[in-house]
Amino acid sequence: MVHAPFSLLPMPYPKQTFLLAKQAATVFNQVIDRVAEDEEYLHRVLSPAAQFDSFTAKLLDVHKATSSERAARRKAQTDTCLAITRSDYMLHSPTNGLLQVELNTIASSFGCLSTLVGRMHRHILEFSDDDTITTNKALLLENLPDNNAMDEIADALGTAAKHHHNTPGGVMVMVVQPGERNAYDQRWLQLRIWQRHGVKTLRRSLAEISARGSLDSQQRLSIDGELVSVVYFRAGYTPDDYFTEAEWEARVLLEKSAATCCPTVGLQLAGAKKIQQDLAAPGVVEKYTLNIKEAELLRTFFAGLWSLDDVNDPTTADIISEAIKHPEGYVLKPQREGGGNNLYGDALKARLESKKDLGALILMQRILPPINKAIMVRNGESHEIETLSELGIYGTYLRQGQEVVMNRDAGHLVRTKAATSDEGGVAAGFAVLDSPIFY
Ligand code: ADP
Ligand code: MG
Repeated sequence: MVHAPFSLLPMPYPKQTFLLAKQAATVFNQVIDRVAEDEEYLHRVLSPAAQFDSFTAKLLDVHKATSSERAARRKAQTDTCLAITRSDYMLHSPTNGLLQVELNTIASSFGCLSTLVGRMHRHILEFSDDDTITTNKALLLENLPDNNAMDEIADALGTAAKHHHNTPGGVMVMVVQPGERNAYDQRWLQLRIWQRHGVKTLRRSLAEISARGSLDSQQRLSIDGELVSVVYFRAGYTPDDYFTEAEWEARVLLEKSAATCCPTVGLQLAGAKKIQQDLAAPGVVEKYTLNIKEAELLRTFFAGLWSLDDVNDPTTADIISEAIKHPEGYVLKPQREGGGNNLYGDALKARLESKKDLGALILMQRILPPINKAIMVRNGESHEIETLSELGIYGTYLRQGQEVVMNRDAGHLVRTKAATSDEGGVAAGFAVLDSPIFY
């Protein structure tokens, strides 16, 4: 067992920018539900990427194979959308703006550990009599924002489980990877769901669900003899989680069931990088917001994003040759989650020059965050280094039929990494958990 890596002191962060990102959380939640419901749109935008990317193709297959069950639930108004999102951002130094890195719709992690790191930072600022802390104006206790992502996320899952239309009070199944390392972030959530809502959690892998799950005549899901009202995915976002066809069969079973899936395959697909890129194209996000003000707010966070579907299109050809000339200004992204998949610098250049299967990728403007010194603690050892930070804002959302029961901004996370590192995942070993302190 090793402790999660963390930063010893909170990271100074501009308050107004932070509040703007918080404000956007409920708007992103509602937009992503509407995108997930627009099945024609999902298939149209993702089909070109699916030609070159078998994981996206498989998810689209599951989505197609379960469309009649979805349609029946919509007709009966028993359909649900339970979303636990995390919108990730970086400050962009050249403009002082905040740009979105990505919107996570599956397995948005670290809500609990970020809550604990916030408490630890509060404790250090309260109790330390070290001069470097007590005399530092950037570290005033009153500037440390509250963070309760742990209970916010527990409340969304607990509410969905308790008020399910045909399985009220059923258990929650947390879909986990066999041998999960980040289990403590998940265990805290289980504990709080039990304490605050009296809902029990079963931890099961997709293979176990495939072997031991079944549906009754009302499409109610049972696993190991327990009725299930909510299925919460902390696995299933990477092809590595699908060892055999059994895991895909589990996905189809869950999608057909009446249990509320967080997320559904549709919501997972709505969080694809390809969709993020397409929503940023002129006139697209506007179709999914309630009014133009909301669209304008979201657009302030959109970085430059380009489709590589048609390399013969003059605009696409221009941006490709520009990125080959200046690879340091761009990031090349496949349809993957979990960190460690993006291409930068020479690798980006080589991949674009190959011209092969570029439709599976999107090209993104490189965000250039400010650099700060931080003390990072990993494996019990501390190092003071030059770092940069990524802010994540959680959102929780529950729709049952036509009624939006819950739509909240639900706490935050800061991840800090060495300024020299391109990638950012904590679990992937690049970053440490941190929290913001306002200036
Ligand atoms: P994943 O789904 O694998 O988490 P991300 O889009 O979040 O994919 O990219 C992983 C990491 O790469 C981010 O946490 C961030 O540190 C870095 N990154 C991603 N996009 C950009 C960008 N446009 N500019 C700078 N860094 C980026
Ligand atoms: Mg990410």
